[in-house]
Amino acid sequence: MKRLFCLVLSIFLLIIFISCAEQQTGSTDNTESETIGTSDTEATPKDTTAVSDVTSESDTSDLTTDTEPVTDTETDTAEITETEAVTTVHEHSYSLSSTVDSTCTKKGSKTYSCACGKSYSEELKLLPHSYSLSSTKNSTCSINGSKTFSCSCGSSYSEALDLLPHSYTPATCTSPETCSVCGYKNGSMLPHNVVDSVCTICGKEVLCLGITESELIQIAGEPNDIIVESTSVGYVTTYIYCSNMMKLRFYQLHNGKVSAIFSAGSGYIYCHMPTKKSHIPIAYDENMQLISDGNIDILCFTDIIGSKKLVSSWAKLTEFDYGLNTVNDKTVFKGEEVTDYTTQNVLCLYITNYYRMLNGLSPLEYSNEASNASLVHSIDMARNGYFEHTDLNGNRASYRLRNEGIDGVYCGENIQAGYFYINKTKTTNVFFITHSWYTSQAHREVMLTPEYKHFGAGFTYHSDSRYEYYSTQVYFRYP
Ligand SMILES: [Zn+2]
Ligand SMILES: [Zn+2]
Ligand SMILES: [Zn+2]
Ligand SMILES: [Zn+2]
Repeated sequence: MKRLFCLVLSIFLLIIFISCAEQQTGSTDNTESETIGTSDTEATPKDTTAVSDVTSESDTSDLTTDTEPVTDTETDTAEITETEAVTTVHEHSYSLSSTVDSTCTKKGSKTYSCACGKSYSEELKLLPHSYSLSSTKNSTCSINGSKTFSCSCGSSYSEALDLLPHSYTPATCTSPETCSVCGYKNGSMLPHNVVDSVCTICGKEVLCLGITESELIQIAGEPNDIIVESTSVGYVTTYIYCSNMMKLRFYQLHNGKVSAIFSAGSGYIYCHMPTKKSHIPIAYDENMQLISDGNIDILCFTDIIGSKKLVSSWAKLTEFDYGLNTVNDKTVFKGEEVTDYTTQNVLCLYITNYYRMLNGLSPLEYSNEASNASLVHSIDMARNGYFEHTDLNGNRASYRLRNEGIDGVYCGENIQAGYFYINKTKTTNVFFITHSWYTSQAHREVMLTPEYKHFGAGFTYHSDSRYEYYSTQVYFRYP
């Protein structure tokens, strides 16, 4: 009984102890919690303890987590061990088995093989091209040459060579400094030095515009004929030089200086004397195309029979406004007429005779009657609005000549109407009209009929007419 009591007491005490322990733990925890909750400063040491405890616990927990991957690694190691076991069956032993060399266009290769039959290849780099000079094109002064380098594969490249310098011949009075190789012209011409119509430097005959009347007489001598006409720009005096018809020349003086020159033939130079600059008529291809250098305007009249050549030209000072529209010293009002072109008739005869003599024919004689018959027809066409050889009454040139007292003759007639556009300017004059007849075959045949002996012309301007300018030429001979 006593032993049983002791056992019961022991168990009882043990239970109390366990209970106490639980209570102590619980109360300690409670105390700490309270301290943290109520005190700031004093509690700090305890606080640190508490934080330290928590950290310590977390660390431990982390470490435990870290440990887990390590366990995985151990598992990997086990797998590798398995692979090694397979490798030991055959290890490839590669060695260079063949080589294909590269060229400059195709990549080569190195092939490595194992005894088992397995192989692999490595690509080799292209070789550089092997260029050498294959051809050289030398430069000139106008075209760049080149050096070409080629590879045996066909690939090539070229290097441009510098231009050579021009080989200049010195400037003369007819040409600026000029490259003898390519013809490039550089700078300006030298002035002419004209003595008696010939330049002492270039040796060419020089026709000078802008010189005075006395200078003209000094250079060209006395004229064979002089015609004075009154025009809207004042008096124009034409000095005619015709002792050599192949060198027929008209010098037209206006305001005391040579303002225009008509010249038959070629081989001469027009020179603007105030600046001593020359202007060489060279555009023979284009009949009646104006060449202008700002000082002089030149019109070239080209022969269309056979090979083209310059047959004559007319040059004027650019500022000189001369044409049929300027004739007669008065403003022409709408509906008005100008019929006093007798000076033009004479110039037309000279030019026509020049064309005849150029073709081996005898010159014609001027006929007042033929000129009157021509003028009557020009005026009639202008006033009555037609352009025909037969007038509105059915009458022809022979009828008109008969009215002037010329009867029983063989005759021919050329007519022309309208104006020319010279550099977009509407104009006309006896030089243009006569040459336009010469370049038209049917009209030229009339001009160059060998049997004709007499000639007349008549020009009119009628502001209210269809073509404004009307011109007629009449040729005849007695049976
Ligand atoms: Zn192998
Ligand atoms: Zn190559
Ligand atoms: Zn050159
Ligand atoms: Zn010269």
